[in-house]
Amino acid sequence: MSESKDFLRTIVEADLKSGKYKEVTTRFPPEPNGFPHIGHAKSICINFGIANDYNGHCNLRMDDTNPTKEDTKYVEALKDAVEWLGFEWDKSVRYTSDYFPKIHEYAIALIKMGKAYVDSTNEEEMRELRGTVTEAGKRSKYANRSVEENLELFEKMKNGEFKDGEHVLRAKIDMSAANMKMRDPLLYRIKHAHHFRAGDEWAIYPMYDFAHCLSDYIEGVTHSICTLEFENNRDIYNWVLDTLGLTSPRPYQHEFARLGINYTVMSKRKLLELVEGGQVNGWDDPRLPTIAGYKRRGYTAESILNFCDGIGIAKANSMVDVAQLEFSIRDDLNKKVPRVMCVLDPLKVTIVNYEGSEEIEASYYPHDVPKEGSRKLPFAKEIYIDGADFEENPPKGYFRLTPEQAVRLKYAYIIKCKEIIKDTNGNIVEIKAEYYPNSKSGEDSSGIKVKSAIQWVESTQAKKIEVRVYDRLFKTEAPEGVEDLNPNSLQVIKNALIEPAVINQKPDVRFQFEREGYFYADPIDYTDENPVFNKIVGLKESSSKKKKAPKPAPKAEAKKVQIDGEVVAMSKEEQALFDKYTQLGLNSEVANTLARDAKLSHFFEEALLTRNSPVNIANIVTNDVARELKQKEINELKFSAKQIAELVEMVDNELISSKIAKQVFEEMNKNGANPKEIVESKGLIQISDPAIILPLIEEIIAKNPENVEKFKAGNTKLLGFFVGQVLKATRGKGNPKVVNELVARELN
Ligand code: ATP
Ligand code: MG
Repeated sequence: MSESKDFLRTIVEADLKSGKYKEVTTRFPPEPNGFPHIGHAKSICINFGIANDYNGHCNLRMDDTNPTKEDTKYVEALKDAVEWLGFEWDKSVRYTSDYFPKIHEYAIALIKMGKAYVDSTNEEEMRELRGTVTEAGKRSKYANRSVEENLELFEKMKNGEFKDGEHVLRAKIDMSAANMKMRDPLLYRIKHAHHFRAGDEWAIYPMYDFAHCLSDYIEGVTHSICTLEFENNRDIYNWVLDTLGLTSPRPYQHEFARLGINYTVMSKRKLLELVEGGQVNGWDDPRLPTIAGYKRRGYTAESILNFCDGIGIAKANSMVDVAQLEFSIRDDLNKKVPRVMCVLDPLKVTIVNYEGSEEIEASYYPHDVPKEGSRKLPFAKEIYIDGADFEENPPKGYFRLTPEQAVRLKYAYIIKCKEIIKDTNGNIVEIKAEYYPNSKSGEDSSGIKVKSAIQWVESTQAKKIEVRVYDRLFKTEAPEGVEDLNPNSLQVIKNALIEPAVINQKPDVRFQFEREGYFYADPIDYTDENPVFNKIVGLKESSSKKKKAPKPAPKAEAKKVQIDGEVVAMSKEEQALFDKYTQLGLNSEVANTLARDAKLSHFFEEALLTRNSPVNIANIVTNDVARELKQKEINELKFSAKQIAELVEMVDNELISSKIAKQVFEEMNKNGANPKEIVESKGLIQISDPAIILPLIEEIIAKNPENVEKFKAGNTKLLGFFVGQVLKATRGKGNPKVVNELVARELN
């Protein structure tokens, strides 16, 4: 286990220590509707990693509740990915579809409790009845159906007696819940579709929100770890388990931030589009961020694990620089693979004063790689160098071969150019050169100074290979789809030449081609007759990136900062921002989120210019604004930093509660309206007037005599219940502080 502990491990440890669970069980629950990508790798590392660290179990569960999109080939790809990353799932692979009968029984139990009903409202009306973030919804007229009627209809739904969409089963929760997800969520829908495992047995399929918590419970999962977009689903998760009375040990849901990488799309849907549209060659195309793609390209499992480990586990979404992933693989291969010579763009060089041939012994590994092994490089009169290593009219600072400048052939002799041979079009086709016999590498007594050493291959023994050079699949940092594809993401070089030992001795499958980068013998297309190599990554960070802002410092050089007991790496710039923000009074987690995200910190600082209220501004920026900036650029937002500051000003002045501020934010985000106007036109101004609040309190007290008694008998927790009811009666507009005080006074 890494010595620094993330917030999930902190939770797990506390739960084990308090005895809440004897053993930890996690699960990785993909939907088999596409090949897994590096985001899934992150989730795999977290779930399996935690189970390993605490001697628990991790299940691999196919979340197969959507029959039209799922397939066994995706199941196989998911299994491959987990195995390749080096993890083992507990027992056999699990399938949500195996629990369909059990989940169906739970649905019937809810119906019998009066907690679920068959709704026959059409989709459009259902949407209207749901209300909005600022308005409560209305319950469908079908919610009054009797238990018997519900049971009968549900049975008919199951038996396929209705068409798709005719009815749904819904939980009866709360149509005015502030969390829109709790407004009578769907539990089952009708779908006449063949399921790749369950066959045609079912005409109804459970929704994620119903199936997931129950599957977790059935498997004895303790920590159900998922990504942030499920935060609002957590209430349903708990409602289902609590309402069904499924108690200890029962699972709880914990969310972490989804991994996003720039220049990359990371949704199975978008990846499927590329595969089906033929923009890439299958799911394992080495340009894709799929595990199969990385594997085929030549990435090592270690490099992916190191990357996932290095970026840490966050609670706020952010974008990781693809350069960090490239750093990981380079760092891993640098310590491992043989160095060999390959010429990608061969230019013939005839060494006019050399006769005969010789073999030069050369180590595969540099001194700092603790590995042994060498090969013999054939050398003779006719060799090839790379076209880019000769310049007839060199620019300033060009250190390789020119008509005036000598160069060393790596491991061999120094040569100088005597004559340039061109074809009728003026293209250079050959160089006639001379070598210095006393300049051999290791025994050089020539006294000649050269500025560089270049790769070369001897012409008669070099092997022809195909090299596939990959660049980023997308040319834009936050790509949307096909319109952002990089047209030059694949370059196929058919006639590269490589030294013979690579093909004859096969010292490895991954190599550093000196001065070019790291390459991998393609596991599918490679044959001895037609060897094919994939470029994994260049030797240095690619130049397009260098012009941009400096990437976050790689792990080794980065400074480490403690945040809530968690050690995280930060660059110098990030560290400076972090310090500044904590001095403004932000807690370390919020400061960390802002400091690491240039877009967010920019927006935050701009809002501060309008109103100096760092804590409240940071709160809305790291939560609500951050969610929007995940998909958009600042100039695409419907609202400005100034308007956010104005919104916060109303909170600061207790004109509105922070809960209402969230509703106002949603409006601003939808239509770009001014926050003050939204508050005025919707009458959202906070109610602090006891004359309005007291009658509501009396009403609630009158309605709940039992709870009043319990409260008076010492159950002080019920204070929260009353406050909640009163706030609800004010539709969230009540001033929580005032309501709290008044409720406490009235009850005593
Ligand atoms: P996609 O949108 O790419 O299809 P998904 O979330 O629908 O992804 P699932 O197959 O449902 O994919 O996900 C399986 C698990 O992997 C879930 O727990 C999910 O939260 C997690 N996961 C998916 N994408 C990411 C990501 N980018 N970063 C971290 N975890 C992820
Ligand atoms: Mg999904």
